[in-house]
Amino acid sequence: MLLSKLFIPITKDLPAEAKIKSHQLMLRTGMIRQSSAGIYSWLPLGFKVMKKIEKIVREEQNNIGAQEMLMPTIQPADIWKESGRYDDYGEEMLRISDRQKREMLYGPTNEEQITEIFRSSVKSYKLLPQIFYHIQWKFRDELRPRFGVMRCREFYMKDAYSFDLTENEAVHSYNKMFYAYLKTFQRLGLKSIPMKAETGPIGGDLSHEFIILADTGESKIFADKKIFDIKVEEFKNNESSLKKMRENFSKYYAVTDDKFKKDEFDKNVKKSDQLQTKGIEVGHIFYFGDKYSKPMNCSVDNKDGKKTFVKMGSYGIGVSRLVAAIIEAKYNNEKMKWPISVSPFDVVIIPSINKNDNSNLKKATKLYLELKKNNIDVLLDDIDENLANKFKKHDLLGIPFQIIIGSKSQDDEFEFKEIDGKSKMLNSNNITKELKKYFV
Ligand code: ATP
Ligand code: MG
Repeated sequence: MLLSKLFIPITKDLPAEAKIKSHQLMLRTGMIRQSSAGIYSWLPLGFKVMKKIEKIVREEQNNIGAQEMLMPTIQPADIWKESGRYDDYGEEMLRISDRQKREMLYGPTNEEQITEIFRSSVKSYKLLPQIFYHIQWKFRDELRPRFGVMRCREFYMKDAYSFDLTENEAVHSYNKMFYAYLKTFQRLGLKSIPMKAETGPIGGDLSHEFIILADTGESKIFADKKIFDIKVEEFKNNESSLKKMRENFSKYYAVTDDKFKKDEFDKNVKKSDQLQTKGIEVGHIFYFGDKYSKPMNCSVDNKDGKKTFVKMGSYGIGVSRLVAAIIEAKYNNEKMKWPISVSPFDVVIIPSINKNDNSNLKKATKLYLELKKNNIDVLLDDIDENLANKFKKHDLLGIPFQIIIGSKSQDDEFEFKEIDGKSKMLNSNNITKELKKYFV
């Protein structure tokens, strides 16, 4: 892609409500545009990042055997009346009616919808366990939408639902999802902490929030630093290993401020291991047994032919929130840096362009075509502007690798650098090889 052709409508005056870095940067780099309060359009650059995040989320769901499907955004009110949540959900739910005056709503979550699908088609324990997921827009009429896509009204979420016969099996499904979440956030270049959480309006017995560290997060967190020594690679996707993984995590103190007690913290965690910081919730998982299956009469026959309400769990990841959360976690010294796995481009070529001499641009174009041929997603900064300004712009865009073509570049030798690392001189062949290590 040529930078001169890329649609990056930069917002000149940042709106006053853009208080946190990610919101400001997403507006300044034209990733999103507000449509109305808490509702955004995703412009090409932002959309590209979100789709990359979505792909990783999807792959890790598939890896634990979850099956992808797609449920609608608009749901009938009836199923929510059955579960008893139609009134409980309150004003966060956007209620609408169609031309026949049927009550509908824009889904804030999908427990009722999936339970309805399951109960009408599964009658025997033999089809269990099952995990389904979809990645779909949600609407919650938040009282105070803020921080851009971090807390908005319309947002993109991966939500999964598990169905099991027994509580033990259901906890195994929960553990699998726990594992998939750790792997997902790791691939997104994030340090995540699973924290025991309240179950809130979703309800239930067991719940964890996955929080990533960022100074601007809404949640205050108190944790034992040693929790970061647990490596997800040490565990396998089988029942005993995943049980061990959960036990390991539960050994370490990690809570948000609503559960924090100073004396407990001091008693359980050595001073030098005490971590007090802020974080952003990027995922939340719940086990809630028959909370929905019972009122909605969702049952299967067990081995002895006895009717049994299925045990369910639900599991959310804020895919659109993650775009902002990654920016918050990675922004440093006035520079953005996308993790390699979700960067909008793999590499940017920055030639120094001089009106009277187009040799650098020529070299840059040749390298650009070469990289494209090798399936590297490359951006060429072909704009006639001084290098200092170009660097400022690329510090904002945060593409992880840069190739600079200026006075130092010989015929086939270019300055290659990681955005905040050292540079080295490489020829085009070696640049291709180096980039292929990461991207192809
Ligand atoms: P929060 O505690 O942040 O209000 P929640 O507990 O209501 O979120 P869940 O129902 O657990 O959210 O939803 C799963 C995920 O969806 C959350 O972990 C978060 O990443 C994302 N999410 C929830 N609400 C919003 C929102 N208003 N804007 C953007 N993402 C959201
Ligand atoms: Mg939550």
